[in-house]
Amino acid sequence: MKYYNLKDNQEKVDFKTATIKGQGKDKGLFFPENIPQFEKDFISNLQQYSDQEIAYRCMRDFVGDEIPAEVLHDIVSETVSFDIPLKKISDSISVVELFHGPTLAFKDIGARFMSRCLSYFLKDNGKKVTVLVATSGDTGGAVAHGFYDLPGIDVVILYPKNRVSPVQEKQLTALGKNIYALELNGTFDDCQSLVKQAFSDEEINNRLFLTSANSINIARWLPQQIYYLLALKQWQVYEREAPVICVPSGNFGNICAGLLAHFRGLPAGHFIAACNANDIVPEYLKTNNLIPQKAIATLSNAMDVGDPSNFVRILELFGHQFNALQHKISGYSIDDQKTMNTIREVYEKYKYILDPHASVAFASMEQYLKENPGRKGFILGTAHPVKFPDAVENAIQTEIDIPEVLEDLMKKEKKTVEINSDFEELRRFLLHKK
Ligand SMILES: *Cc1c(COP(=O)(O)O)cnc(C)c1O
Repeated sequence: MKYYNLKDNQEKVDFKTATIKGQGKDKGLFFPENIPQFEKDFISNLQQYSDQEIAYRCMRDFVGDEIPAEVLHDIVSETVSFDIPLKKISDSISVVELFHGPTLAFKDIGARFMSRCLSYFLKDNGKKVTVLVATSGDTGGAVAHGFYDLPGIDVVILYPKNRVSPVQEKQLTALGKNIYALELNGTFDDCQSLVKQAFSDEEINNRLFLTSANSINIARWLPQQIYYLLALKQWQVYEREAPVICVPSGNFGNICAGLLAHFRGLPAGHFIAACNANDIVPEYLKTNNLIPQKAIATLSNAMDVGDPSNFVRILELFGHQFNALQHKISGYSIDDQKTMNTIREVYEKYKYILDPHASVAFASMEQYLKENPGRKGFILGTAHPVKFPDAVENAIQTEIDIPEVLEDLMKKEKKTVEINSDFEELRRFLLHKK
């Protein structure tokens, strides 16, 4: 499979290059040259296949012969090596829980797949690779766990001191081994700006093989299709009609992966883009005008995005046909008050605990079903409620149980190196790891 740059269609690269480079010229996103179709027989009989086999069939066309079949089998098996259950909340709304991985959020899936592909591609290269990322919280943890203990790879994560939650901080700082956490006296923007400087610094790039684990990397984006198939496999057991699929959205990578799977033949009655106060896409769906905004801070903070970077991929999928897009996707914007009310109501009515992101999705789905009675579907549960204890416990007035993986993690010691917002300090660390 070849991938072309959405900003310059002449630039075409293979899977390996797209995975290593992350993005093309002019910061353009890569997009597959064709959309491989699922076999009908496969899609309507998913129960006959193991989760590993489904994941393999989902990914093999995108990887081609760049990774041998048996290696790709191992990679996808490790990618989905935790529970991804579909659970019924109400008669018409189910949830697919994507938060049983090591950092309790769906980003684990993309990070695990990408890290293993990268490790495979770089294993014969002789040089040690350094993955350098800035994080405001969630991404860093998923990347750290994805790359943990992989041979030939060091991970250096910059995060703003005192500005990530206690759980997030432990996920970044307690692993050790090949994961280095730098605690920066500054903001997330300072972290990002130092990382950018490092990528354009000649001496560092001569001495180290630096790469990023950016969320727009195709090796993080494409494997997100897998869990739409795994959810459908469970859906088909008790439902006949194609599901309405509702995705809590920020950068729009997740819903874009679902739409890609749909274009390949995955049955879906409709897609819902569930947003918080950052309503750029719901507004676009009304007006056909995409107007980036400054991000607004909300309770569902992983979706506080004012200029969703993956949306260009959705436009490309639909061939820039607004009518077709508007026909397939509905958008809703849910404010914090409604997010809190929904967590409370769903807990009281159904004894199910939503995190703020899934709550935005549930509220959006309810609204859509009110306008389109008789339909049914599932929302994507993107994070475990325990990652957002303040909002959730406040809404349901009950303490939430801490899952075992987290209990072990919280007991571990935090290991960081503190640096100032000074490029020389980062350079010294990168070159000497001390
Ligand atoms: C990243 C994230 C999202 C948003 O996903 P996108 O692919 O950026 O749309 C939603 N929920 C949680 C918990 C996240 O961490």
